[in-house]
Amino acid sequence: DQITIERALISVSDKTGLLDLAAALKADGVEIVSTGSTAATIRAAGYDVTDVSAVTGFPESLDGRVKTLHPGVHAGILADLRLETHEAQLAELGIKAFQLVVVNLYPFVETALSGAEPADVIEQIDIGGPALVRASAKNHANVAIVVDPASYGEIIEAVAAGGSTLKLRQKLASLAFEHTADYDLSVSAWFTENVYDQWQDDVEALDEDVEFAAADDDEDEEEAPFPEGLGIEVTREAILRYGENSHQAAALYVGEGGRGIAQARQLHGKEMSYNNYVDADSAVRAAFDFSEPAVAIVKHANPCGIAIAKPNAPDGIASAHLRAHACDPISAFGGVIAANRVVTLAMAETVNGIFTEVLVAPGFEPAAVELLTQKKNIRLLELPADYERSSLELHQISGGLLVQQTDSFEEFSSAGWTLVAGPEVDAATRTDLEFAWKSCRSVKSNAILLAHAGASVGVGMGQVNRVDSCHLAVSRAGERAEGSVAASDAFFPFADGLEVLLVAGIKAVVQPGGSVRDPEVIAAATAAGVSMYFTGERHFFH
Ligand code: 5GP
Repeated sequence: DQITIERALISVSDKTGLLDLAAALKADGVEIVSTGSTAATIRAAGYDVTDVSAVTGFPESLDGRVKTLHPGVHAGILADLRLETHEAQLAELGIKAFQLVVVNLYPFVETALSGAEPADVIEQIDIGGPALVRASAKNHANVAIVVDPASYGEIIEAVAAGGSTLKLRQKLASLAFEHTADYDLSVSAWFTENVYDQWQDDVEALDEDVEFAAADDDEDEEEAPFPEGLGIEVTREAILRYGENSHQAAALYVGEGGRGIAQARQLHGKEMSYNNYVDADSAVRAAFDFSEPAVAIVKHANPCGIAIAKPNAPDGIASAHLRAHACDPISAFGGVIAANRVVTLAMAETVNGIFTEVLVAPGFEPAAVELLTQKKNIRLLELPADYERSSLELHQISGGLLVQQTDSFEEFSSAGWTLVAGPEVDAATRTDLEFAWKSCRSVKSNAILLAHAGASVGVGMGQVNRVDSCHLAVSRAGERAEGSVAASDAFFPFADGLEVLLVAGIKAVVQPGGSVRDPEVIAAATAAGVSMYFTGERHFFH
């Protein structure tokens, strides 16, 4: 595994020890190929040296940006001469192999530290050098790579001993990769510190301009969404019987502003439990976004049915409830219901026949209250339909609090959707797609919701892949999947999930789009003749 050194490429910014090395190589009859100032230094000391431009047939160009970046050089370094094919190709191309490459890189760090102008620092990012180093290190079976004058002694000894051993070349290769990695890290750090800072300055300057422009009409100056402190004063409203499980103590704290589910007025029933609050909140999220009479039935924070009233139904909210319940009657047992209209006697009558934990609504007809309060277990909560929505959502993590703007559908419109597959749908189907899309927002990700005529017919929620959510939605829908529309809270990463829906016979689908595999997904919908719309906006909910 010893390789005799006959030809060496030397390209060094730091000329320390260069002449000792050149002397030793020359004493052994090694041909030296070299770049600009390296060649000049060696030649000035009286040694024979080949200019790299004579090897490449190209002048060193672009102020030194291109010197050794040439197949005449790199094929000579990368050829694996254990392979006959490589040897034959080199001969055919008239390229001679190198057995030794000595490179040290442009002094990037030193230049950066000297406080040079960014343009000058950037010029010191060595491009051809690292390519030489990495090519040689990769091909350490054939080439010895030296990146540090500290290794010259070892290589001089090796030359005297008849060549480099594999062991030495492996060690040098490891040092070489370490060296280029360090080098790139320094470059990256410099970019972060300097160029990035500069961008920040630009952005800040831009912001100032904008502020200046906006200063004229500062009448309704908006508060920054994320103040230093949240400014939320909470007080303990109630000690709950227990938390999510019976061994967890729990309490309800209520914020000052807003009138969300925490401040809903309880009219009847046992004390609200921790889980009741969580589910009631989800149900309200699902039902109170609709302008039509709407009902959502929730279990374990996921809707198992959402529906709006059938058009022209004599009792809108009762109609919505029946349709929401029909989506998944099994799951609706023991559910939490939110209705966005006053609960009528007709709705109370159907709810009365179904074991229900909580019913939250903007109000209750007296006859409905009279009927429902005969059961002592059902909790009735009153929450105005126009209750003050919080602009921020808080999510507790261990040791902290994540805060984000509330995901809401204020002033919802589908005007911005893009048709990407199939024909434009009719008005009724479009209304259904809008319903499915809005409903899908309150289903935990990955969410797939199938709907028909303003009612969910199959909900797939909370799965760790979208295919399973599709299977779940389809199996819950059963025959109702045929001819339904589908909504997906985020893009289909592959066509496989959509295929499940297509096989089940959906007629249209709405999803955010934006996957690298969108073309695959669009092709699947197109092939099935199914219309697909992209919303451009995703609604993850965890
Ligand atoms: P010299 O001082 O011999 O003119 O140039 C030596 C330096 O050039 C070495 O630091 C080496 O890493 C670098 N170098 C070699 N080939 C190239 C190339 O093709 N492009 C660039 N930018 N640098 C190179």
